[in-house]
Amino acid sequence: MLPWLVVLTVAAVYGSRWLPAVGVDAPWLALVPAAARDHPRPGVEEADGRLAPAVIPATPATSYAFLATQQDSTGATVPVAWSPCRPIHVVVDPTGAPADLADQVRAATAEIAAASGLTFVDDGLVVEPADPDRPAFLPDRYGDRWAPVLVRFTDAATVPSLAGTVVGVGGPQSVADSRGRRYHVTGVVYLDTDLLQPGLTTTDWPSVLRHELAHLVGLDHVEDPTQLMNPVATVSTFAAGDLAGLAALGQGACAPGV
Ligand SMILES: [Zn+2]
Repeated sequence: MLPWLVVLTVAAVYGSRWLPAVGVDAPWLALVPAAARDHPRPGVEEADGRLAPAVIPATPATSYAFLATQQDSTGATVPVAWSPCRPIHVVVDPTGAPADLADQVRAATAEIAAASGLTFVDDGLVVEPADPDRPAFLPDRYGDRWAPVLVRFTDAATVPSLAGTVVGVGGPQSVADSRGRRYHVTGVVYLDTDLLQPGLTTTDWPSVLRHELAHLVGLDHVEDPTQLMNPVATVSTFAAGDLAGLAALGQGACAPGV
């Protein structure tokens, strides 16, 4: 075994991928053909209210952090979050993945839905190469809507942030409405093919998937080693702080303007 493989076995580090935001949307954009825009028409699938009830954590906890925060209309600091009033669409590219990747994604998103009150929709399997700078809007591939979340395995040659001991990266991409309020609208989860090589890491890939999907929803790392959002693999399931953070991220505002 090469020396760097030993390092990976000792410390499998989860990455977070916080994508730069794209520009401000405006209703008039709906009048411009999708192919001529860098945003979809606003409010696709947005309902008048949240699709599922907000979640009150079973165990109060404070061991969580958000990738980004902003001020709401009352001046309170709130996390940048997904709209709870539209579904989060997810596609899976199974290239190079274990046969149960799509099943594991459905299971993990169901866990996060239950913890957050957000709604996920499985858009099925696709063939879409990993792109470290994946655009938020891919109308030729997915039509006039924000690109669905992409989950797939890839490697450091394609996604450089997977280099070294990092075994997965994931995160949302946000946009602002005309009032400057930000919302997550798409994102990616890229799992490192190193996870599939026996002896290369002691971390099981479904745990990395859960961790990266929690980044996707908006959770950041915590130093608390008992939480799944600790950046080094220690636990394999969501703990009280993770669950409290997911519940908070499920209480964002509706987003008819993006
Ligand atoms: Zn991470």
